[in-house]
Amino acid sequence: MLRRAALPLFVLFWMAVPAAAQNFSTDDPVLERMWVEAMENSHLEVMAQALMDSVGPRLTGSPGIDRAHDWAVRTLEGFGVEARNEQYGTWNGWDRGITHIDLIEPRISTLHGTMLAWSPGTDGPVEGEVVVVPEWSSEAELDAWLESEVEGRFVAIGFPQPTCRPDYHYDDFGTQGALSRMQEARSEALQAFRESRVPNQGQFRTRLDEAGALGILESNWVGRPGTNRLFGTSTENAVTLDLSCEDYGLVYRLAENGQNPVLRVNAQAEDLGEVPVYNTIGIIEGSELPDEYVMLSAHFDSWDGGTGATDNGTGSTLMLEVMRIVSEVYPNPKRSIVIGLWGGEEQGLNGSRRFAADNPDIVDGIQALFNQDNGTGRVANISTQGLVDAGEHWARWLSRVPSEITTHISLNMPGNPSTGGTDHASFICAGAPAFSLSSVSWGYNPYTWHTILDTYDKIVFEEVRNNAALISMLVYLASEDPEPVSRTQRTFPDGRDWPSCQPGQASPPS
Ligand SMILES: [Zn+2]
Repeated sequence: MLRRAALPLFVLFWMAVPAAAQNFSTDDPVLERMWVEAMENSHLEVMAQALMDSVGPRLTGSPGIDRAHDWAVRTLEGFGVEARNEQYGTWNGWDRGITHIDLIEPRISTLHGTMLAWSPGTDGPVEGEVVVVPEWSSEAELDAWLESEVEGRFVAIGFPQPTCRPDYHYDDFGTQGALSRMQEARSEALQAFRESRVPNQGQFRTRLDEAGALGILESNWVGRPGTNRLFGTSTENAVTLDLSCEDYGLVYRLAENGQNPVLRVNAQAEDLGEVPVYNTIGIIEGSELPDEYVMLSAHFDSWDGGTGATDNGTGSTLMLEVMRIVSEVYPNPKRSIVIGLWGGEEQGLNGSRRFAADNPDIVDGIQALFNQDNGTGRVANISTQGLVDAGEHWARWLSRVPSEITTHISLNMPGNPSTGGTDHASFICAGAPAFSLSSVSWGYNPYTWHTILDTYDKIVFEEVRNNAALISMLVYLASEDPEPVSRTQRTFPDGRDWPSCQPGQASPPS
């Protein structure tokens, strides 16, 4: 058994975590050791800090996700686990550089904002006036404006929020009805904005890009202080920027009131062309049933406004931690234990779908697959995904897990097979016993999910340690289970079919 020496830091963590569970008595030394390993020798903090802070965000097609895959292979090999990166396809390669956005007229202010993923950068620092989209009522009117007012300018196409205060302030501090008055005013303004100015943001980006805009300004605010959600863009020349609610509103009001705002923007980005994309796969070979698999599953890619801490840095480091614990405590498993850290989930479960399509033998041999992908919370809901006899196994496995973990879990039987959303869907569609371990939210939506605030500090390690103990035990119990998990499928009262498997995109859409 290979294992790198623990860093001295672990001593501090060991002192910081609570002693073993009160309610856990077991005569199984493997379960006992798993509990101790998860709770008293956790590597989660060290792995999460390295991944989120040092490797950073893991956008599909970026150098960041490649660095992350290499780090994951090194980490697994450090636990003595055989690991490799398997290419499943290609994607649009893009490297994010700096984004500096300054208001320079009518006064100086450095603005909070950044480029959307895959945005073209600027050619060094560029300066341009900001204009808003005027009200228009015919295509001819819009065309005339696009022809005369857009070239060389920054165009603000996002909805200017009437307030950047969260709703709960209106509820907490406003007079009776203040919240509903504000909400009504906001939804009327939004409706008017969509009807008379920007009906479709995506289409507007393209038209402005073609009309020679210098840049496009948006603000995808989620209704919480300082919290914007960041996705990608496909403009070819115009830099697409997301500004904070406050700074977008400032620039928008200046432009709308004829106060002639000018921005200086220095946004650096490199288009890397079509690049290979990967899944990280690690395996501990089974000693009795090597062609049957217990799989650990989490997507490794992220959006890049934050560092993808809860989507899905927590799921990824959790599964690595389980692999560590299993290799330490249960190094000769009955069935093979496989970890899949998938690429390209955010673009449509592409990594896991390609893996399932490319590895039908593994899919056929899955005893159980455990996927986690909704944040830092303790596992609280498990569905047996429409497999009518899987519940017996779950009941047996969970009866062996400490009650202080299982007391928070509800088991939904038979449940329904997922059709998408996250990676277990790439396997349950083929009838494999693939389960999603769904977590307590901890404000996942709207606070961290795909936002610029999805960072290391949002990880609640006590909860993730709990999950590491739970899933390590589930891996052991599923691996040792004398019976394969039944694949008998439920029927649906509405007569619909079991979901069919999608192939996953092996290359970017053209
Ligand atoms: Zn996710």
